[in-house]
Amino acid sequence: MKVLVAVKRVVDYNVKVRVKADNSGVDLANVKMSMNPFCEIAVEEAVRLKEKGVATEIIVVSIGPTTAQEQLRTALALGADRAILVESAEDLTSLAVAKLLKAVVDKEQPQLVILGKQAIDSDNNQTGQMLAALTGYGQGTFASKVEVAGDKVAVTREVDGGAQTVSLSLPAIITTDLRLNEPRYASLPNIMKAKKKPLEVLTPEALGVSTASTNKTLKVEAPAARSAGIKVKSVAELVEKLKNEAKVI
Ligand code: AMP
Repeated sequence: MKVLVAVKRVVDYNVKVRVKADNSGVDLANVKMSMNPFCEIAVEEAVRLKEKGVATEIIVVSIGPTTAQEQLRTALALGADRAILVESAEDLTSLAVAKLLKAVVDKEQPQLVILGKQAIDSDNNQTGQMLAALTGYGQGTFASKVEVAGDKVAVTREVDGGAQTVSLSLPAIITTDLRLNEPRYASLPNIMKAKKKPLEVLTPEALGVSTASTNKTLKVEAPAARSAGIKVKSVAELVEKLKNEAKVI
């Protein structure tokens, strides 16, 4: 079974992001970039499926600038077999990404596509769902457990107040939640081996996909700075301030 995993290059989760002076976006100059944490979980799940003998080949795909090859090499070091970069320097919408992924799905015909539930830079939580709509495949989003049996996959989903298990016919789309697994670290020998694994570079044009956007970012602003707190001398003073100043009780 072929498994396709989508990995996005994002600002590392430890970085305190800064907004550009002209409010046009987040400043990415000299900022540490990494694989989106939910995509790391997606790669880990694919590798575990291969270790169990369920998956036979893992293909990782990223859509982004040339530098996204770094995240693809990381995925190869973690156990993916080959990588595809759809190179684009544009700031793409989830719909454009989903259309490009659909073109890669058509080309590669995977039985399972695993994505993160959300990219931590845009927080869109859309791409997997859009890809499911474009391909017509069943979707198991926010997965905390994945079990492949024959031509079906059972996906346990994190839903409000509990867990829901759905059975999907393959091919299917899964998006990962935090509890699905704990990703491993790449070992040095595997990092070295990953340098020799195949990495194909494609373009949206070669895939016949238009990435034209109907969205325009008008303004990006940092959240308002928190004002300093104060110390109150008594419970009575606290209640008085909550009632008359904050007006929350
Ligand atoms: P989003 O819908 O943008 O929150 O992203 C959800 C998931 O879609 C991510 O965790 C990735 O698996 C996938 N994805 C989004 N953008 C890209 C991209 N540019 N390249 C590869 N995968 C992506």
